[in-house]
Amino acid sequence: MNPRRASKPIQIGNVTVGGSAPIVVQSMTKTDTRDVMSTINQIKGLEGCGCELVRVAVPDAEAARAISAIKRGVSIPVIADIHFDYRLALMALEAGTDGLRLNPGNISHPEKVATIAYAARERRVPIRIGVNAGSLPKAANPRLTVAQQMVDAALQQIKLLESLDFDLIKVSLKAFDVPTTIDAYTSIAEKIPYPLHIGITEAGTPRTGIIRSTVGISTLLYLGIGDTIRVSLTAHPRKEVIAAYEILKSLNLRQHGPILVSCPSCGRAEVDIIELAEAVEEKLLKIDKPLKVAVMGCVVNGPGEAKDADIGIACGKHRAVLFKKGKKIRTIQEKDFVTVLMAEVERF
Ligand code: SF4
Repeated sequence: MNPRRASKPIQIGNVTVGGSAPIVVQSMTKTDTRDVMSTINQIKGLEGCGCELVRVAVPDAEAARAISAIKRGVSIPVIADIHFDYRLALMALEAGTDGLRLNPGNISHPEKVATIAYAARERRVPIRIGVNAGSLPKAANPRLTVAQQMVDAALQQIKLLESLDFDLIKVSLKAFDVPTTIDAYTSIAEKIPYPLHIGITEAGTPRTGIIRSTVGISTLLYLGIGDTIRVSLTAHPRKEVIAAYEILKSLNLRQHGPILVSCPSCGRAEVDIIELAEAVEEKLLKIDKPLKVAVMGCVVNGPGEAKDADIGIACGKHRAVLFKKGKKIRTIQEKDFVTVLMAEVERF
């Protein structure tokens, strides 16, 4: 795995992105931002599962103004997602937004960008230049690859912000196509010092979207690229946060809650491992300790993996051996598998 690319850290509210800060998990609300209570409730739910930054859509002035009340009801920094109308960015700043996301595909006029940059600089609010393959600037050169066009769009906006003495910058270059996204990020990573927000856009429903996002995000993280991630899913944003942490945990980049090791089951298993693992996984979602928990189907790999975990069971016929830190604790009956395992997890 490559060492992490050096980047210039920025501060979004109380969260540092880039530099040596942990890779930050973010998501976006799916409520109408003007509906302050629903938006606060969704953000609080996201905070509960570890979301560290949240973006809200700002389609009009009422949504921009709502940021002020939303911020009073939540603990994590709120980023305003702005398209088309630069005045909405100014209103969001006025309402106390912690960050802005601008799309150079629909806000690129130098004077408008300058007006936003001056107001953001005054408040020390960072701007994400969020390039999207689906909304490239009209001036993009069609002879270039989509990845190159995305990089060019970001570089032009960066140049403009730098000329205005604004450097609280974060960049994203998202496409649905995974190789295009990887090409774009690997290209820009060598050209700029700013932190990168990575993700695959419009990745789909959890069934396919988590795989698509994992392939793209993990490849980049393995190359040392990425300071904050979002898994974009056509689903409740809680699923985005859970998936993002699973990616980071798989690469040993963050610790967050338990890791479940479970065998795939096969003809040797004498208990329903699929049902058992799903039941344990569901219960582990409520645990925030960084534990390794193993649920194994038989004596072939079972005892080895279960012993390697902090807590584990290796099942046999109607019974299982419970292990804790490599030591056999006792034998448990099938009807008690979940309750005993979870009681040990709670006690650990
Ligand atoms: Fe099959 Fe046993 Fe391996 Fe599970 S641990 S997959 S039951 S051999």
